[in-house]
Amino acid sequence: MDKEMNYGSDYKYIPATSIQSGRGIEVLSDLFSYTIQIVNIHLIGDPKTKEFVLVDAGMPYSAEEIVSVIENRFGTDNPPKAIILTHGHFDHVGAIIELVEHWNIPVYAHELEMPFLTGKKSYPEPDPTVEGGMVAKLSPLFPNEPINLRNNVKPLPSDGSVPHIPEFKWIHTPGHTPGHISLFREKDRALIVGDAFVTVKQEYLYKVITQEQEISGPPRYLTTDWKAAKESVSRLAALKPTVAVTGHGLPMAGEVLTENLAKLVKNFDDIAKPDFGKYVN
Ligand SMILES: [Zn+2]
Ligand SMILES: [Zn+2]
Repeated sequence: MDKEMNYGSDYKYIPATSIQSGRGIEVLSDLFSYTIQIVNIHLIGDPKTKEFVLVDAGMPYSAEEIVSVIENRFGTDNPPKAIILTHGHFDHVGAIIELVEHWNIPVYAHELEMPFLTGKKSYPEPDPTVEGGMVAKLSPLFPNEPINLRNNVKPLPSDGSVPHIPEFKWIHTPGHTPGHISLFREKDRALIVGDAFVTVKQEYLYKVITQEQEISGPPRYLTTDWKAAKESVSRLAALKPTVAVTGHGLPMAGEVLTENLAKLVKNFDDIAKPDFGKYVN
């Protein structure tokens, strides 16, 4: 590292949480999801084989918690091989600099997400006027300035492969952000969604706190391209996933997932797309 990495100047602790915070779920023997306040991180890899990657990097100031969760599952002195980012929003890169420094591991993200991860471009301002509840209203508090990971972040291979997890392919699912990706494994149709759709109404404080399960489009206050977001949901539904873990909310599987995803595709404009807001049209 020739120069220091840095967060944006609006980086800060966000005092929002949920009942799921601090809890982990073994969704599959090689897929573990853990909730940091209001966002999920995922560990892909079997603790027996010890090779694994971390998907997303939690909320600001959560590095110690993430390290201890990982050491509990994979042992000490066994760092992840890499961090794969679904996208670069503050709640998915909140602890990433401390983690990269702690383990000295690479980060991978979609090419189109690189400007937000290398200090070149801010995300659009969150929209507090969007249709939705208290979380949407509070969204101007959320950091949107770019972090700078310098040469520690690399673009994902253009052939769809994901470093260190050969069974998975990345799928471009833009709309929520330009370079948003999801991860899919054909063998068991496991899907790591990111924020392309979520299983909690992320705009509403009560639903975030209680984690009431309800399929929803991408978090509204930060989604800027609703046409692309709709196409991305259709693309994911066409994969016929049997289990899905999302950036926000509880995992969903089986018939509940199939039915809810079909409902979301069919009624995307009603369920997902806000009736008003500055990025709607
Ligand atoms: Zn996001
Ligand atoms: Zn998110």
